[in-house]
Amino acid sequence: MIRNPFGTSTSGAVAILGGGIIGLSIAYELAVRRGLDVTVFDPRAPGHGASWAAAGMLAPAFEAAAEPGVHAGLFDLCMASAALWPDFAAELAARAGREVGFDAAPSLAAALDAGQMARLSGIAETLAARGVAHEVLGAEALRACEPALSEAVLGGMELPTDFRVHNRRVVEALLVVLRASRNVKFVDGAALLKSVGGRVQLDGHGAIIAAAGWETAIIKVEERGACYSLVNWDTALDDIDCHGGQMLAVEACPGAPLRVVRAGHVYLVPRGGQVVIGATVEPGRVIEAAEPEAIAALQAEAARLCPGLAGSAVTEHWAGVRPGTPDHAPFLGETVTPGLFVAAGHYRNGILLAPVTAQILADAVTGKAPGALAAAFTTRRAYTVPA
Ligand SMILES: Cc1cc2nc3c(=O)[nH]c(=O)nc-3n(C[C@H](O)[C@H](O)[C@H](O)COP(=O)(O)OP(=O)(O)OC[C@H]3O[C@@H](n4cnc5c(N)ncnc54)[C@H](O)[C@@H]3O)c2cc1C
Repeated sequence: MIRNPFGTSTSGAVAILGGGIIGLSIAYELAVRRGLDVTVFDPRAPGHGASWAAAGMLAPAFEAAAEPGVHAGLFDLCMASAALWPDFAAELAARAGREVGFDAAPSLAAALDAGQMARLSGIAETLAARGVAHEVLGAEALRACEPALSEAVLGGMELPTDFRVHNRRVVEALLVVLRASRNVKFVDGAALLKSVGGRVQLDGHGAIIAAAGWETAIIKVEERGACYSLVNWDTALDDIDCHGGQMLAVEACPGAPLRVVRAGHVYLVPRGGQVVIGATVEPGRVIEAAEPEAIAALQAEAARLCPGLAGSAVTEHWAGVRPGTPDHAPFLGETVTPGLFVAAGHYRNGILLAPVTAQILADAVTGKAPGALAAAFTTRRAYTVPA
């Protein structure tokens, strides 16, 4: 049973608009774990948006502690989701009959200059204040953890809360499990949403979850023969913006790192015989294909951090779009339009935040009151919209 816009119960299916890791994880939670009927709508190949482009770092400490101006609860949300990942990955792998590349080896953060050292000190202070485990390491100790690191490294940190998963394998595993479920239907196209009396409805569905990443606000709704964007039903969705990102992967040669390593804005993620090197952050840009200059610059930075990567053969390069919000935190739960839910705007942490998002949205559509943490991420929250 799910709650409908009129506060009573209904047996209609839940419509999920968007088949990225967010929409698929919600479908998994609702259909596979809780036994509800779900329809996933996506006009493109599910799983091949930002969720395919990502590097797969599950990095609550580094990402959330490092960002100025983030939502005050984002760190706790990230930590809550990181705690769910080991079981989520194991259960998903068992149900799908395939590995998802979850690796709990602690990530490393390194500094190549004084500015980077100062930033790491700031992160270490934040982590210490929050009581989050981390170990500050000198250059020698850091290189003992990861011998591929350059002699130029000045020092850094080991972050036992930050690990990784193979995000492409995760979405593939979710698709395998969901396609095998009798409770799940996939529709290859956009949903025919209608506005009736100001409410958004979809035939045969008791609740609608908008989970179309950076395109969530522009999902179309028909009203008396005219088409409008979903943002008209909750204007906060207008604050979901696009942040382009470019990356590459190189062959994992003998001098390649075995751990996730980052320095400045560059990170290296070993994955399936390759090393993913990321990423540019380009606010306001939807980038269709990676640009040679950006890829060359990332590769040069990677070689500065791990010299063994210099000259490694590039196996792939690509671009993606992060769905950002002004406070870098997602919109989760019911919108101001009853019966219309949202799970979008996960910015740099959508892979990390998938399990906790799935639980929060499944609770919301089944009428469970949100806890304090979940309630802090509605579209009704206050934040300053940058000029
Ligand atoms: C370069 C890069 C690196 C990243 N690295 C990391 C990382 O290491 N760790 C991490 O946690 N996060 C990372 N992220 C962020 C993460 O990838 C995103 O936050 C996450 O994938 C967002 O998932 P999503 O399901 O909301 O969006 P998407 O994966 O983009 O899925 C949205 C889906 O909605 C569909 N859609 C669009 N319009 C409609 C419509 N009208 N109706 C129905 N469906 C529609 C699209 O076709 C798409 O399939 C990275 C992102 C980028 C770009």
